[in-house]
Amino acid sequence: MNVLWFKRDLRIEDHEALKKAEKLGPILPIYIFEPKLWQQPDMSYRHYVFLQECVSELDRSLNSLGQKLIIKIGNAVDVFDDIQKRHRVQTLWSHQETWNGWTYDRDKAVKRWCESHNISWHEPVQNGVIRRLKNRNGWSARWYQQMKQHVLVSPTQLKAIEEQSENLPSPAELGFRDVDFTDLQRGGRQEGLKLLHSFLNDRGEGYTREMSSPVTAFGTCSRLSAHLAFGTLSIREVFQACERRNQEIKKMPRGMKGKWPSAMRSFSGRLRWHCHFIQKIEDEPCIEFKNLHSAYDGLREYDFNDEYFEAWKTGMTGYPMVDACMRALAATGWLNFRMRAMVISFASHHLWLHWRKTALHLAKLFSDYEPGIHYSQIQMQSGTTGINAIRIYNPIKQGIDQDPEGLFIRRWIPELCDMDQDFIHKPWQAESQMNGYPMPIVDEKIERKAAADKLYGLRKKNDMHKEQVQKILSKHGSRKSRFPRTTDTKRIKSNAQGELPL
Ligand SMILES: Cc1cc2nc3c(=O)[nH]c(=O)nc-3n(C[C@H](O)[C@H](O)[C@H](O)COP(=O)(O)OP(=O)(O)OC[C@H]3O[C@@H](n4cnc5c(N)ncnc54)[C@H](O)[C@@H]3O)c2cc1C
Repeated sequence: MNVLWFKRDLRIEDHEALKKAEKLGPILPIYIFEPKLWQQPDMSYRHYVFLQECVSELDRSLNSLGQKLIIKIGNAVDVFDDIQKRHRVQTLWSHQETWNGWTYDRDKAVKRWCESHNISWHEPVQNGVIRRLKNRNGWSARWYQQMKQHVLVSPTQLKAIEEQSENLPSPAELGFRDVDFTDLQRGGRQEGLKLLHSFLNDRGEGYTREMSSPVTAFGTCSRLSAHLAFGTLSIREVFQACERRNQEIKKMPRGMKGKWPSAMRSFSGRLRWHCHFIQKIEDEPCIEFKNLHSAYDGLREYDFNDEYFEAWKTGMTGYPMVDACMRALAATGWLNFRMRAMVISFASHHLWLHWRKTALHLAKLFSDYEPGIHYSQIQMQSGTTGINAIRIYNPIKQGIDQDPEGLFIRRWIPELCDMDQDFIHKPWQAESQMNGYPMPIVDEKIERKAAADKLYGLRKKNDMHKEQVQKILSKHGSRKSRFPRTTDTKRIKSNAQGELPL
């Protein structure tokens, strides 16, 4: 008997581990609820309810093939040990997982267990992330190779195996509480497919221009991130759906194409970034905890201001664009890229808060929390990678550029709902209309300059800085691609994410 362990791949379509395991004979498909994982400081209620929806849909899909999903509760090694006592397990199958420090250590323990029980553990790759990569040369070409492989259809039937299944605990049993949300995304593959279809055929046309403004981004962006994080859709399926749509667009008469070609180009590039960033944590797991470039160690550690942290978390900094974003995020579990970058930049630069605590807070709020992308981006936007341009967003300018009429601000900050348009981005200038909204907790200009001076000063003075930069670039930096293989070959010249396109 072969065990198929579902992890962050909660689907039966395009599932290489399932396909291969099933060819060997009867399989036991299991999902292990690991209490210790869910006690980690980056885990939260909203991840859990999304997971529950994904797991119950996966169970229905497997049931329709003749074998229910077996849910087990406990440490993975103990669960496998227990199963092994009742069945003769020959192989273990799961997709290769690149997640947080806890799952990394757990996988090492599972590997040891498999070796000591003479069970071979097969881990096919479900994305474009390469294990034991030496450097980034040729990475992009390998990513395209992986994305262009056939999407695998699900098995048509599975032989039932008797094994007891448990129920997932309720969020309350886990001690999870979340009172702030009003509008979280739903989990499960059907939801993911609906989003993919509506994005590619309807919502996504204005993507390139509209992705940066929170006024438009909630509707225009694909909103697939949580589905990719939980694996209800594979990144290859999404990439190939985008390629097919691109072909359709190409065949349209010139006047009918609208902004679709640009939208598809931008979107396809971001799917590659998804894996590019996860590759960083695969190659250097410690970026979850430590600065990528050690020159930044000690810079913020001793200055942490808890009052600033509290104001930032609760959307009470006095900077409307930052506060509207933090409140919108608490309610919906999502923010667009530009606003994610702005809120962390504000925390790391203007408030000079070390990124580790702010990153954990955001991790818990993002339904789509994906450690590889998250910590790489957090460090980029906090200026601690050494290889990226230092970017300090001015939240007033971002407000004026991305929400000129203050629609987003008024929606999420009811205190400012009736504020005169002239003051919506600088409400402190209209003190009488503040309705309890706070004055700014720091001076934007002074703190931006102070942060820039510290960071640029450190880069300039330090010879060791340069030396380490070369090593980091060789290991993590994106290369100019000789393979611009999206169906539309126009290259993206630069990107707000701060690295060259792969
Ligand atoms: C501080 C910070 C933290 C972030 N944390 C996460 C995270 O935990 N999980 C996460 O999925 N994304 C994260 N991102 C990246 C990005 O903001 C989200 O992927 C995106 O907003 C998700 O919305 P969407 O699915 O509509 O994306 P779309 O714009 O529709 O893009 C499609 C897909 O491409 C990928 N993608 C898009 N932008 C990026 C990017 N900049 N880097 C890497 N992949 C990208 C995502 O998988 C996304 O689902 C973070 C960005 C910042 C600045």
